Amino acid sequence: MINEREVQSGLTQAEADRRLKKYGPNLLEKKKKISPLTIFLSQFNDFITWVLIGATIISGFMGEKADAVTIIIIIVMNSVLGFIQEFKTEKSLEALKNMASPTSKVIRNGKLKIVNAQDLVIGDLIVIESGDKIPADCMITESSNLMIDESLLTGESAGVSKSIQKKENSIYMGTIVLTGNAKAKVTGTGMETEMGKIAGMLQSIEKDTSPLKEKLNNLGKILVVLCLIVCAVVTIAGIMRGENKYEMFLLGVSLAVAAIPESLTAIVTVALALGVSRMLKRNALIRKLPAVETLGCTSIICSDKTGTLTENKMTVKAMYSNGRTYNLDRESVPENAMLKKIFTYCNDCNVDTDKKNVSESLIGDPTETALIKVYFRDGKTLKNFLGRARRVYDIPFDSDRKMMSVIVKEGSKEISYVKGAPEKLIRKCKYILDRGNVRILTSNERNNIVKAIENMSFNALRCIAGAYKEKNLTRGKSLEDNLIFVGIAGIIDPPRKEVKDAVLKCKMAGIKPVMITGDHKNTAFAIGYDLGICKTQDQVITGDDLDKLTDKQLEKTVDKKVIFARVTPKHKLRIVRAFKSKNKVVAMTGDGVNDAPAVKEADIGICMGISGTDVTKEAASMVLLDDNFTTIVSAVEEGRVIYDNIRKFIRYLLSCNLGEVLTMFLASAFNLAIPLLPIQILMVNLATDGLPAIALGVDPPEGDIMAEKPRIKNESIFARGLTEKILVRGALIGTCTIFSFVVAQYLGFGLKTARTMALATLVMSQLIHVFECRSENHSIFQINLFSNKYLLGAIAASICMILAIVYIPFLQNVFHTSAMNLIQWGIVIFFSGIIALINSLYLYFK
Ligand code: ATP
Repeated sequence: MINEREVQSGLTQAEADRRLKKYGPNLLEKKKKISPLTIFLSQFNDFITWVLIGATIISGFMGEKADAVTIIIIIVMNSVLGFIQEFKTEKSLEALKNMASPTSKVIRNGKLKIVNAQDLVIGDLIVIESGDKIPADCMITESSNLMIDESLLTGESAGVSKSIQKKENSIYMGTIVLTGNAKAKVTGTGMETEMGKIAGMLQSIEKDTSPLKEKLNNLGKILVVLCLIVCAVVTIAGIMRGENKYEMFLLGVSLAVAAIPESLTAIVTVALALGVSRMLKRNALIRKLPAVETLGCTSIICSDKTGTLTENKMTVKAMYSNGRTYNLDRESVPENAMLKKIFTYCNDCNVDTDKKNVSESLIGDPTETALIKVYFRDGKTLKNFLGRARRVYDIPFDSDRKMMSVIVKEGSKEISYVKGAPEKLIRKCKYILDRGNVRILTSNERNNIVKAIENMSFNALRCIAGAYKEKNLTRGKSLEDNLIFVGIAGIIDPPRKEVKDAVLKCKMAGIKPVMITGDHKNTAFAIGYDLGICKTQDQVITGDDLDKLTDKQLEKTVDKKVIFARVTPKHKLRIVRAFKSKNKVVAMTGDGVNDAPAVKEADIGICMGISGTDVTKEAASMVLLDDNFTTIVSAVEEGRVIYDNIRKFIRYLLSCNLGEVLTMFLASAFNLAIPLLPIQILMVNLATDGLPAIALGVDPPEGDIMAEKPRIKNESIFARGLTEKILVRGALIGTCTIFSFVVAQYLGFGLKTARTMALATLVMSQLIHVFECRSENHSIFQINLFSNKYLLGAIAASICMILAIVYIPFLQNVFHTSAMNLIQWGIVIFFSGIIALINSLYLYFK
């Protein structure tokens, strides 16, 4: 109810700022940040790298000092690259954590505002309601039906009732408001809270491990072993052929460093983190990193209606009063003093006293503000009206009962006003108020009312009925029995314009949009039809129908339904489970505290950013900052892009590394001279591995990514032919490099030039291959080569590196290269490009 009770004005902002400065933020011991130095040093925290450094130093003492220094420089440059990646990722993940940090409603300078929970100070007056996580230790100053879940502190799962009258009037940080609401004064913050005293709790911070990262980590381990075996073979074969032992050892280790795809999982994290920030720009805040992977396989999106599919801008369009429906577009609001009282007194919105106009001054649930706006234009009249009654008791609205009741005192008389979903309310009504007289409600009248509800709801109106009673005003559920029916309001909440396109997009992408709503089935159908979600009435099922089905029966029919109407949060959980049993990947939205279990159970739990409660946000893997359905679809799209990009750079990294290993292996197998010196192998690795791979991580999508079916959930990242592509292409890169090396020697260019040409061929084939990796099914002539400017930049940088070591005399000395002429470049380009050319022609004609 709009109330005068808001006399307590809380701290002033200035005082709060002063206390915050003096006593510090309301935080449980800050987790130590990882310092940039630690990140940098961790780049060297790798056994093979240390072996390489050791081998380099030894070989330095044995002779080639310049070689040794260069190798060390390359290792450091590689680490700098790794550091930059990891540092950026850490930063963006941390920024994400801060965004997801909890907020709190507080009264300062007499005004309700939302602050970060960490800015609360002792003495602050906070406002809590169902679903909130209590942000600090507090003492209740005012409360209504407050029930708290203190299981976090006490282990006791039953809710505890608290109020100012009871001895139990303290509430504690981290516990959860189950029902009711309250105002409370902060008595302890940060480490001074009960929670702060339980040190053990601090360790229970969830760790984000991505299943994909874990799988790749395991794969990485296998690859390390394989690489080491090949390197050992190459080294031993060389020694047996009579090459210098130390040099061969150094060569083996350099090859291992170059070939082991140590950046694989690091780049997955980079790609996920970059994806997360792109999603944030589209208003989807990811709370759990693995969700990014799963998003791409979403096959069902279960969405709330109000505010997500609709605008949540409510206007009363029709009213039913004294046996007749009034169309407010054509007629004025019917005279019904009792209905006006019900909708105004049984109402939780607040009035901002500074504003004169009612439309601007009302703060609260749009359904409730709409009910007031239909009766009042200016704030003063409203305040006078409110002044005539004082609320003494209430049972708040909840989505299970779909009703709200208050008892108010008008003068010396107490009256109870009730409003709620009409079919529910009418069942509780025994009487009717008809032109000022209270009579028994006949079944004929009951039928007429039901017809009126049907008519209104067919026109997409959201209906709320009003009732009251003056006798037997018991405190408890029975307050809502034997009511006197008064009338109904029909409220329009137009569908969001952009949602129609998003629904279409979903359907093209093989994703089924499903509406789950507490509203009437006709209203839900009318809106669903308008948005393209449903076509026929038999696609609609109600909560009552659901109750009649067993879980098994539900599983059988669930696929045919797209609208679930008049459901409660409990139904949501059953719906998620039924869809999951059909092997669907379900995204499910929720906001209230009771939605949390369903949100948690869904593959992608989504919480509303604006209307969502703390508890549901915590259960969710994604928060919609704008509560908009379209945002979910955008996030799914981003999820698909990210997954594709991960496949792209895995393909690139692995085939390139395979090419490098094979070059050395083939030379050794065919008893050729060593094609690349240790320092050259490391150079190839530096030029090709880092930057182009990261650039692939931000590649724009190939064609219309939402024109394909969702991928299968447990599909391996190497599915759909990726392994074959990697093996074949890797083998060909190695073979072509060896050919280039052999041809050069055959033409009498000398070993030094032949090595330079092998190096150039290896680098150039990788730089050409990176474009092939950008598409699964199209050739490099069919894709837009210029659409990824980061990739172009990375390639330009790599080419400059190669030109520098081939033509700058000082670097020629360091890298043992010699300048190449045009014929030699011709051979290099031929061997680097030939496979890509053949492959493109094949794809083109296929
Ligand atoms: P969705 O789940 O899509 O957001 P919804 O917002 O319509 O749907 P609820 O908020 O659970 O779902 O509302 C269900 C019904 O309860 C409404 O159709 C309306 O009749 C009634 N109702 C909604 N808000 C109130 C309220 N503040 N007081 C009384 N009854 C309400």
